[in-house]
Amino acid sequence: MPQNRAYKRRNRSPYLFILLVVLLLTAALVVGARAMNTWKVYEAEAAVTPAPTPTVTPISVTPDPARVTPAPTPVPTPAPSPTPGLLSSGAQGEAVKQLQTRLQELGYYSGKIDGDYGSGTKSAVQMFQKINGLDADGIAGQKTQAVLYSDAALPAPGPVDTLEGDIPLLVNASHPLPDGFEPADLVKVKDIAGSLMTYETNSIQAVREAAEALTRMLQDAVNDGYKPWKLREAYRTIADQQRIFNNRVNGYMNENNLTRSQAIARTRQSVADPGCSEHHTGLAFDLNVTGETFSDTAQYLWLKQHCWDYGFIMRYTDEKSDITGITGEEWHVRYVGVEHSTKMRDMDYCLEEYVAWLENQ
Ligand SMILES: [Zn+2]
Repeated sequence: MPQNRAYKRRNRSPYLFILLVVLLLTAALVVGARAMNTWKVYEAEAAVTPAPTPTVTPISVTPDPARVTPAPTPVPTPAPSPTPGLLSSGAQGEAVKQLQTRLQELGYYSGKIDGDYGSGTKSAVQMFQKINGLDADGIAGQKTQAVLYSDAALPAPGPVDTLEGDIPLLVNASHPLPDGFEPADLVKVKDIAGSLMTYETNSIQAVREAAEALTRMLQDAVNDGYKPWKLREAYRTIADQQRIFNNRVNGYMNENNLTRSQAIARTRQSVADPGCSEHHTGLAFDLNVTGETFSDTAQYLWLKQHCWDYGFIMRYTDEKSDITGITGEEWHVRYVGVEHSTKMRDMDYCLEEYVAWLENQ
């Protein structure tokens, strides 16, 4: 069987060769893998080890603001405004200018378009809100602005001629004037009467015809030797009356510990409700003599006797207080025109009685 042995020997060598190749390949793979591992370690270390920094001498340099890279701008957080675009007292800027411009167009605002939401702007917003049936809080919120900038916005009622018609204008607790009421033809009394009297403030206003009648009357009084005179008050806006009323209510609550409803009841004894004061007409005047009780003065006696001839009435007397609802105010005169005033004197009617009588004619 040598052939067979030979065959076997010849046949053994390919197996050895294959084994050798397998061993060589395995060795090559092991060496390669080691080399790869070393490289990875090097890579890892290179990433950790900082690159050498060039040595720089520190120099203090004021940074050029133009060249300084700005710090990353934080994402703006929206202001915590409950209503977007809400405007109220103290607000400033273009949106307020726009608001003032629109209020002026509609006849509610006559102040400066200055972008400052001051008391004038607030009053105008309140008046707009009242006329347009909105909550009159003086804040231009979303709802108010929506109406204001719409075609449905109602304009301010125009000034009213308070001397128009055959019946004198009656204002009292049961005859209030509408919101936004404003008399026509207001003038500064001082511009008409000058130094004939002194004034609580130089800006006191009244309807021109009434101011002229007052001037004629007091000129005659002074000529008769009845002086001096002081004008305490004439025209008062409904907004003014609201402020006076609120201040008095707050005073009673804080100083006299009254409840709100008690304080309001107490206030109504001496202050008319907003809209219910005759001073809103621009036809009423409160006269005074500085330092004296007016009812004790010779001026008062003169006025009581002569005012009728100049178109004035003594509006609130004690005798008629059960009808007028107001106790005697000797200092308060009201212009109705000579035709009415002389009739009222002759008939001994207060304004409520006289108006009722005229309405029944
Ligand atoms: Zn008065």
